[in-house]
Amino acid sequence: MSEQFDLVIIGTGAGGGTLAYALRNSGLRILLVERGDFLPQEPQNWQPVEVFDRRRYKPDETWYGADGKPFHPGVHYFVGGNTKVYGAALPRFRVQDFGVVEHEGGTSPAWPVTYDELEPYYARAEEIYAVHGSTGEDPTEPPRSGPFPFPAVPHEPYIDDLSVRLRNQGLHPFHYPMGIDLRAGGRCIRCKTCDGFPCQVLAKSESDVNCVRPAVESQNITLWTKTLAHRLLTDSTGKRVVGVELERGGEKLTVQADRFVVACGAVNSALLLLRSANDKHPNGLANSSGLVGRNYMVHNNTALMAVDPFRRNPTVYQKTMAVNDFYFRGPDFAYPMGNIQLLGKLQAGMLTAAQPLVPRPILQGMADRSVDWWVMSEDLPDPNNRIELRSDGKVIVHWKPNNLVAHRKLVEAARQMMRAAGYQFVFVQPMGIETNSHQCGTARFGVDPATSVLDPTCRTHDVENLWVVDSSFF
Ligand SMILES: Cc1cc2nc3c(=O)[nH]c(=O)nc-3n(C[C@H](O)[C@H](O)[C@H](O)COP(=O)(O)OP(=O)(O)OC[C@H]3O[C@@H](n4cnc5c(N)ncnc54)[C@H](O)[C@@H]3O)c2cc1C
Ligand code: SF4
Repeated sequence: MSEQFDLVIIGTGAGGGTLAYALRNSGLRILLVERGDFLPQEPQNWQPVEVFDRRRYKPDETWYGADGKPFHPGVHYFVGGNTKVYGAALPRFRVQDFGVVEHEGGTSPAWPVTYDELEPYYARAEEIYAVHGSTGEDPTEPPRSGPFPFPAVPHEPYIDDLSVRLRNQGLHPFHYPMGIDLRAGGRCIRCKTCDGFPCQVLAKSESDVNCVRPAVESQNITLWTKTLAHRLLTDSTGKRVVGVELERGGEKLTVQADRFVVACGAVNSALLLLRSANDKHPNGLANSSGLVGRNYMVHNNTALMAVDPFRRNPTVYQKTMAVNDFYFRGPDFAYPMGNIQLLGKLQAGMLTAAQPLVPRPILQGMADRSVDWWVMSEDLPDPNNRIELRSDGKVIVHWKPNNLVAHRKLVEAARQMMRAAGYQFVFVQPMGIETNSHQCGTARFGVDPATSVLDPTCRTHDVENLWVVDSSFF
């Protein structure tokens, strides 16, 4: 069986879904391919035990570390991809992030585009994802061509009080740009199960709701769910992709098109290119640089719980504030340290997976009295951190975290910040290989085909009608 389209987009997450939305009125006949189904709207969407302990929305898939240890990756195969469960924090990069940045652990190379070039696209994306934010609070914020589409998500009183405590330390806590539907008449009820959970009332700005559903209203866009892209096929020159082999409803079929976009997420996009090796591309499709799957990055991440045993934290929707005072440097550290942002309110059911030996009432007591942060630092591109596809289909993630001095400094700064704000106990939990929520870098973009997979428009250097449009390009 064979079908013909102008464009096939594989993957419906942040990259693929947003692209489909942007092209919905282009007149192109587009096929959107998604391995997962629509995520069901059901009570379990908001049940911590279902989502965290029972991993209800994660695939039954095992990847392996370089040491052979198995792990279950933090991926979500649904229409909307990882954005179904993401925290909906939607900040822009800072101007300096686009240039060469010297970190304690090495150099972050410049991107082949500037902030000014991307600014109009940021503005469009913020409209599509209904971003709520404010300006003038964070000294690191980049210039904008206009205000945020919607006013910032207000802090609840406990967080307002915390922001005063932080400002009293000379810090600049700011309202974090968020994509939740608090517009007049919007669907968001400000619940406590947002960050890490699917939204049961579809009020989170995510790719399924904000992009794919409106896109498929167009006559020109067809969505095939439960359809796995297995391999891309080229013509005899190897210069053009002519088809994609799919598995759909237990059947194999090939779809032909003029152009193809891979948007499967950084690991799965690399795997699809590697699986598509042929005699013209023996090391994987579009891989003459040898960089497909390499330079895998995920951020250095630590969850931090600050507990004041004498004060309950009644906040329901907690993820409204961030601190960037250590973003470019610290008080006694000349290198970037990173961003500190509030997490959605932690609950006992979210902690039991990480702390199985601690009795649940103790976890509940802590969660009732804690304020919770995500402490996040840059990691650096290292070609040895890579995705390997073994001949038996096994996925190996070679990952050795780097730039850790900066991260430890940031965790310590966050700890001191919360102690000074009156929290007697601060607990930290560094994230491991399975927390690959921020996976990126596996098909980096650049001007030189020897040192990058994609050109500055995310088209592959090697194959003229193939683009990779997801977090792989970072
Ligand atoms: C818990 C969590 C919290 C997060 N919080 C934030 C946040 O607050 N802010 C933020 O900016 N980012 C956040 N992120 C990260 C963000 O979700 C990702 O960076 C983003 O979704 C990446 O987009 P993508 O298009 O690269 O991949 P994805 O969104 O993962 O989409 C990939 C899609 O491709 C599909 N697919 C994969 N392989 C195939 C195949 N072979 N055939 C067909 N389809 C395939 C998948 O099913 C999926 O739908 C979070 C992520 C997680 C998991
Ligand atoms: S806070 Fe709003 S957007 Fe987030 S899950 Fe709850 S209702 Fe949905």
